[in-house]
Amino acid sequence: MAMDIFDEMERRGHEQVIFNYDRASGLKAIIAIHDTTLGPALGGCRMLPYATEEAALTDALRLSEGMTFKAAAAGLDFGGGKAVILGDPAADKSEAIFRALGRFIDTLNGRYRTGEDVGTSEDDFVQSLRETNYLVGLPKAYGGSGDTGDNTALGVMRAMHAGLMHRFGSPSLKGRRVAVQGLGKVGYHVARHAVEEGAEVIGADINPHVVGRVSSELGIEPTDPWAVVETSCDVFAPCALGSVINHETVDHLECQVIAGSANNQLEDDKLADRLRERGILYAPDFIANAGGLIQVADEIQGYNPERVRHQIESIYDLLLAVFKEADETGRSTMAVALDHVRKRLTYVHAIRRIRS
Ligand code: NAD
Repeated sequence: MAMDIFDEMERRGHEQVIFNYDRASGLKAIIAIHDTTLGPALGGCRMLPYATEEAALTDALRLSEGMTFKAAAAGLDFGGGKAVILGDPAADKSEAIFRALGRFIDTLNGRYRTGEDVGTSEDDFVQSLRETNYLVGLPKAYGGSGDTGDNTALGVMRAMHAGLMHRFGSPSLKGRRVAVQGLGKVGYHVARHAVEEGAEVIGADINPHVVGRVSSELGIEPTDPWAVVETSCDVFAPCALGSVINHETVDHLECQVIAGSANNQLEDDKLADRLRERGILYAPDFIANAGGLIQVADEIQGYNPERVRHQIESIYDLLLAVFKEADETGRSTMAVALDHVRKRLTYVHAIRRIRS
């Protein structure tokens, strides 16, 4: 592996990276724990046929860092972690793999909890549950709070409302043009809520069956998965994978506001400055997509849907404050949001020095 792992951990501030291999099941998984200042690490487990081990490690490192930001911005008492399984979710899933993963997670004694993410489902973790209790987002039948897609989508909607309020003086989606990239567990609900709120919705997915089903069910306009990025619209909602805003696409975006669920939407944080220069209002991903994390964090304390909805609502006020400060200081919304996160990590760290 060409990457210098300790340099990378130092650069991003990681505490621990664990390589897990089980010969019997063939499981290969990486668990990255970024920062546990606020509490035990929490973050989903991805399964993808990564082209290289380095790509898998990079994904785990980036995503776990993002989880620290997400939990900190949402006001949660959890740190950031993420697991990735190297494998094809369509071909390599088995009871053995998810039980083996459960055994490895259990060795961490609650220092890291996980659940579904891209390429995994809540049902996969029912297998892991046979080996560990450090899981979240389990099916309701197994004592969990169920799928997080809709709560994540509700947070994205509040991010859209805040963006529209800041840009146009009204949070209403009525008559607004919304382009949704990725119509999966979150994107479907984003498209549905936007249609219900009177928006004209354009949707795209690389899976033709998904786009066909969702466009006929919701009456949205289907478009090409790549063209959707450049579609002229009021709100662009990236709800597929990361890095959709990159050095090639950033100057082709034709939207006023970006608010979506994908993690790491910016290929690199400096692109936030380019978005600002172009007059595009960016709702930082780790604030807009916190609804699912808020749900699973609540599950650990005994799930209360009303409390979860209330916390998701706060995404709107937080983003309005971020947008205002970004305007006042001439900085990108990303820079302001990261400042907010660092301040919280710093004072919680300082407070914990107080001893009885
Ligand atoms: P999902 O796998 O259910 O859906 C993703 C969809 O995007 C799939 O239908 C896939 O075919 C499609 N897709 C992939 N690449 C695409 C492309 N280039 N163009 C168009 N469509 C494409 O995943 P999800 O749970 O809906 O999550 C979507 C994103 O939101 C991911 O980045 C995920 O990490 C993030 N996220 C999800 C949650 C959650 O609660 N599920 C929470 C926070 C963040």
